Amino acid sequence: MTYDIAIIGGGIMGCSTALRVVAGGMKAIVLDQGDLGQGASGVNAGTLSLQIKRVKLMPYALKGHHLWEEMGAAVGFAKTGGYTLAFNDREAELLKERQTMKAEAGAPIEFVSNNRLRAAEPGLTQKVVAASYCAEDGYANSSLTGQYYRGCLQDAGIEYREQNAVTAIKKLKAGIFEIATPQGVVYAKRLLLAAGAWLKPLAALLDVNLPVNARINTVSVTERMPPLMSSVIGHATGLLTMKQKANGTVLIGGGWQGRGTPQEGRGEVDVASVRPNLALAQYALPALGDARVLRSWTGFEANVPDFYPLAGALPNVPDAYVLGCVRGGYTIGPYIGQLMGNFILGREPEMPLFDPGRTFQEDTI
Ligand SMILES: Cc1cc2nc3c(=O)[nH]c(=O)nc-3n(C[C@H](O)[C@H](O)[C@H](O)COP(=O)(O)OP(=O)(O)OC[C@H]3O[C@@H](n4cnc5c(N)ncnc54)[C@H](O)[C@@H]3O)c2cc1C
Repeated sequence: MTYDIAIIGGGIMGCSTALRVVAGGMKAIVLDQGDLGQGASGVNAGTLSLQIKRVKLMPYALKGHHLWEEMGAAVGFAKTGGYTLAFNDREAELLKERQTMKAEAGAPIEFVSNNRLRAAEPGLTQKVVAASYCAEDGYANSSLTGQYYRGCLQDAGIEYREQNAVTAIKKLKAGIFEIATPQGVVYAKRLLLAAGAWLKPLAALLDVNLPVNARINTVSVTERMPPLMSSVIGHATGLLTMKQKANGTVLIGGGWQGRGTPQEGRGEVDVASVRPNLALAQYALPALGDARVLRSWTGFEANVPDFYPLAGALPNVPDAYVLGCVRGGYTIGPYIGQLMGNFILGREPEMPLFDPGRTFQEDTI
């Protein structure tokens, strides 16, 4: 059997695109080297915060937020609102500059007085000099990603194969892709590479060099604590995100780096990197000093030098596409997957995609 499209990578990007192309009439198969949603999509911090999104990606993040809200309890969605804090004048300036740009890009972000912050979050340190608030912010439970999307694929009648690593791809004369896995060969008219931090070696199977790098982000979780905060809390530098789940545990992240490479497995926690992350969390919320950290873990987040997504046609390979390297991709994934699906279906996407064949220049705003 020849599928209309084979999607390699069953993370949030691959699964959300699969749902859209199949809704548009295509016959699709999703292949994953592990289980669905066990890559970055299943180990991330789950923060759905417009305050930590890149300005140019704000319209995509706003759409993503609405989709998470619709998924609701099935993904552990909670709209709590979120505060971003500055502890000195330099951070306050940074906060003002960044959040003003994000507000201008459409995020409902406002600056709030210390009195309002203290009334809402009395457990926070008194050392806050400036704070912003976004009522749309919240979180979902990333460990439910795989289970959720597996159910969606099943409901839509989409075939998926887990534990099926793609090891070779050939384009046959008839224009069909022959995709080899140790469990057998799959034939498809089109191909979507959605392999997250593993995109570079996957594209290399088609002789395409994608400039993909991987960051190794760390997340930590505490034991169950009495109620300490009700909103998502971040820091002006982006080096802290934290939220307390309904079960009392506190999830702490902020992009602190672990060790390892995607090829080697899941990566290792670097204690020297976790310590300052936890210290910043405790500085913001002193009662965390009483909490034991139960576990820290890492996950691989893909990016390209300009930190914008790869979303569009794969250069030099007709009928092949790539979707990945989306900063804040947990938030934006469900929406950019729909855009990608529309593009593959030959429909005009509602918002522009991000040409994977562009020249990459560093850009950090
Ligand atoms: C620790 C961490 C914290 C994060 N926190 C947040 C956050 O709070 N908020 C937010 O918005 N974003 C966050 N992100 C970013 C977000 O998780 C990612 O942008 C998003 O999940 C990427 O989805 P993906 O589908 O591209 O990749 P992945 O979820 O990694 O999926 C790629 C899939 O491809 C499969 N694959 C790879 N190679 C092959 C192959 N050869 N054959 C078959 N299958 C293959 C893998 O098994 C994997 O399942 C975080 C990321 C990390 C790592």
